[in-house]
Parts: sequence; C-alpha cells; structure tokens
Amino acid sequence: MRPRIGITGGIGSGKSTVAQSFAQWGCHVIDADQIARSLTLAGGAGISPIAAQMGAHFINADGALDRAQMREAAFRDPAFKAQLEGILHPLIRQHIDQQYQYASSNTDAPLVIFDIPLLAESSQWSARLDQVIVVDCLERTQIARVQQRNQLPESAIEAIMAQQASRLQRLRKADWVLWNETLSLQALGDEVFDLYNRLIANFRSRQPH
Ligand code: ADP
Repeated sequence: MRPRIGITGGIGSGKSTVAQSFAQWGCHVIDADQIARSLTLAGGAGISPIAAQMGAHFINADGALDRAQMREAAFRDPAFKAQLEGILHPLIRQHIDQQYQYASSNTDAPLVIFDIPLLAESSQWSARLDQVIVVDCLERTQIARVQQRNQLPESAIEAIMAQQASRLQRLRKADWVLWNETLSLQALGDEVFDLYNRLIANFRSRQPH
C-alpha cells in the first residue's frame, strides 16, 4: 500500500495549493471537501439519511442538499452541527478509504495525499495516516487570502475560523510544518518539492531490503 500523507490547515492557509503541487509531482490527491460535496448532491449517499434524520425540508426540489439553509442551522446550533457531522463524517471516511484502495491498486502514485480540512478536529485520522503535514500561516494572512479568493467579509471569515481548530491544536498533529507566511507561490512550490523528496526518501528507507 502507498504511503498515506495527510494535509491540513486552517481556511486560507494554502493547503489546496500545496495539495495541487503534490499532484504535479505525480501524487494522487484525495479531496475530502470534494467528497463531502458529492455526498450531498442529488443522488449522493448523504441525502436520504439527512432527509430521514434531520428533515426533508433540508433537501431542495432537485434532490440536492440545501447547503445555505443547512450551513445557517449548523452555525446557530452546535447540536445540529454534530448530528449532521455524525451522518456525513463516517460516509466521507468510507469514500476516502475506497479512493485510497483504488489509488494503491490502480495508479503509480508514489504518495497518496489526503487533503483533509478538518483533520485536527477529529481523532479518527491518526490511525488512517502515516504522516501529517500542517500548512500554517498567521491568522491575519488567512483572512487576507480568503477575502481575496472569495470576496467574503472579514466577520464571515472569522466566524468560519472560530469553528475550526486553533493553530496550536493543528500544529500538535504535525509531523511536518509548511510555514506559508512569507513565501511566494513559486517558493511554496519549491518547498513542496523538497518535502516530497524527503517523504519519498523517508519511506524508501523504511522498506525491507
Ligand atoms: P486553503 O485550501 O487552505 O483554504 P488555498 O490553497 O485555496 O487555501 O489558498 C488560499 C488563497 O491564497 C488562494 O487564492 C491561493 O492562491 C493563495 N495563496 C496561498 N499561498 C500563497 C502564497 N504563498 N503566496 C500568495 N498567495 C497564496
């Protein structure tokens, strides 16, 4: 089986950019956010348990989850959020496991990258990953990047950040830290290549000879 590398970071830290760089070097990237979205599109595996357990009014006429309504309810009520996560997170993990099996059997990818925004928020990941990379930067930089990327007001970004793990909680999970504060995008790509080579060397040295 291929080495399993988790990447996490707060919103705007640069984790998707880092995951894309790993993909450029031939790594297979599993995107937990994309899986979460696909589960809640019409026909997705999350739709019927959400309708049954949380209410059919959360499902749009086209059969997809009403994301705006769900997001607002989850923001207001932590118990509601926990119930939604109780449905979606096991499904997300199951799909991630399936993609990992597929990547290990059907691709030449030297590493499988698990892009998991909420890795630090759950204790479920440590047994599923060989190494964890945390992409880190100052909070004010996170806000500036997300403002530029999504044109969201600062207060909305701060509200999202308040629901995520703190930088310290995240850093405690790290085997490797990519400090993406002062780097240009080009320099970040170079750092990722350096880390890629180290990870490969690291795993090769552990293989039985
Ligand atoms: P995340 O996936 O952690 O939310 P992204 O990788 O999407 O973050 O990065 C957020 C935004 O910041 C993107 O528009 C990205 O191009 C930009 N960005 C990330 N790192 C840098 C950097 N070192 N220099 C300039 N822009 C960056």
